[in-house]
Amino acid sequence: MYKPEHVKTSPDFPSPETMRAWVLGDPDQLTLTKKPVPVPKRAEVLVRIDAVAICATDLEIIHHGPPAMIQGGQPFNKNFTPGHEYMGTVVALGPGVDEYRIGQRVTVEIHAGCGQCKRCREGMYTACHNYGLNYGDVDKGHRANGFTTDGGFAEYAVNHINTLVPISDDMSDEEATLVVTAGTAMYGLTELGGLVAGESVVVTGPGPIGLLGVAVAKALGANPVILTGTRDNRLQIGKELGADYVINARKEDPVEAVRKLNGGKGVDYVVECSGAPEAVNEAARMVNRGGRICLAAFPGKPAEVDIAHIVRNNIYVYGIRGEGKTATHRAEAFMAQKRFDATKVHTHTFALEDLPTALKYARERIEDAIKVVVKTHGHAALNSVAAE
Ligand SMILES: [Zn+2]
Ligand SMILES: [Zn+2]
Repeated sequence: MYKPEHVKTSPDFPSPETMRAWVLGDPDQLTLTKKPVPVPKRAEVLVRIDAVAICATDLEIIHHGPPAMIQGGQPFNKNFTPGHEYMGTVVALGPGVDEYRIGQRVTVEIHAGCGQCKRCREGMYTACHNYGLNYGDVDKGHRANGFTTDGGFAEYAVNHINTLVPISDDMSDEEATLVVTAGTAMYGLTELGGLVAGESVVVTGPGPIGLLGVAVAKALGANPVILTGTRDNRLQIGKELGADYVINARKEDPVEAVRKLNGGKGVDYVVECSGAPEAVNEAARMVNRGGRICLAAFPGKPAEVDIAHIVRNNIYVYGIRGEGKTATHRAEAFMAQKRFDATKVHTHTFALEDLPTALKYARERIEDAIKVVVKTHGHAALNSVAAE
């Protein structure tokens, strides 16, 4: 039985000493292994993972490595467990933790910055200057589960209390995995963007961040909220999440369409979630003079950008690396108030042992998969389903 020294446990939520965890070997090679259940230290808890969503960044990490960074380098063959968009139940408390109780349901943010660098002190812990420095003689205490420390494709994980977001009891496990995605959009729009009610927003690219970006913008009082994309079924989901207008870029010129909707002036914000090579230039022509472009996706190759247009028009351009400034808490508050139904982007659920199939669904968008969720217990594995 799991009962490490100085760690508070409860007979109501017993944990085993070992757990199932997926481990990254060579690129694209994942193996289900046994690992010891990790032990929380000061200001940390043990989370029993109940569900974990797959993110495009997981696919990047498993295939290419970055932005994961383990022991100062590539994440391959280092017994590393990826996965970062998870939720679960607090089942053990590290020394001194009284902010959370055993049995409490939580979802998690990814980044626990070092807490001592300039950016962490400003609350921009996603831009921690000590990213990945958490090993051996360079242990700055930085943690980003699924990136620089073990993540959520497993049964348990240790989390710093700063990364926990309590969730309401009526929020499903699947919905709770989406809080961090909504929190990323929230961070881009409010904390970094400064959006106030009544301003106009375009979201380009109806992936998970884009769709929840529409939902968050609408909930924040943006008007109008316009979504551009190339697939009608996804644009329809965007409408259900609050888009006032949707534009299919295959059918009409999105820049012209946006400007027409705004009396020719363009909008106050563009949240770029498509990663298309021309996206920044299109965004710069959708936004009005002095407007802001939040970059939440990136093309595979460096893109050519019309800087002169950006300079001449006082356009602000900024990137977001995930969430920050506890924006996830505010996103959770919107979701708890049912201001939008994030579950509309959740399309598929698999059991933990079927992670490779789940990743394939997410990568190849099989059956138009948007958010694919893996459940660590209570969801039948594929072969047992087939056997029934
Ligand atoms: Zn993610
Ligand atoms: Zn830091």
